Amino acid sequence: MCGYSKNINIGIGMMYSPERINSVNDEDPFLLQLVRSKKIFNKAKELINKQHGEIKWCHYGETLYMCIKCNEFYQRFYFELYSEVGKYEPEYKCWRCKGSLEVLHIEEPCMSPESDHEGAAISKYPCPKCGKYTLTNSGLSNGIIPMIERWD
Ligand SMILES: [Zn+2]
Ligand SMILES: [Zn+2]
Repeated sequence: MCGYSKNINIGIGMMYSPERINSVNDEDPFLLQLVRSKKIFNKAKELINKQHGEIKWCHYGETLYMCIKCNEFYQRFYFELYSEVGKYEPEYKCWRCKGSLEVLHIEEPCMSPESDHEGAAISKYPCPKCGKYTLTNSGLSNGIIPMIERWD
């Protein structure tokens, strides 16, 4: 028992309209604030401007990600951008080890309604700190998943 815990906010906030998200030519683009990565933002901007790309309503939101190397959990902005060259999804890296982050489709209130993503159970994943399978999300309230280790 190492006491690991983390709060992850998932879903969308009041400001998260498709109009604002797709306004990539603004002076201070909202999408850049959400993804916090110039590289990802520039890719999305290029697809929106040059390939008729669009991030559609319900195909985005704050989501739970996990590093495939060190298992650390992250909150990141997920989106699906459809354009003439297909679907683009952001690829995030772990701050700790630079490993790739994998999106865990957990409790999606408004994303991909037609998709068949199964909600991920946190207990399937090892604790990033001690490696034991002791994590639990203590219930979803207002889009927040507090992950805590369970005492047994
Ligand atoms: Zn990592
Ligand atoms: Zn632990």
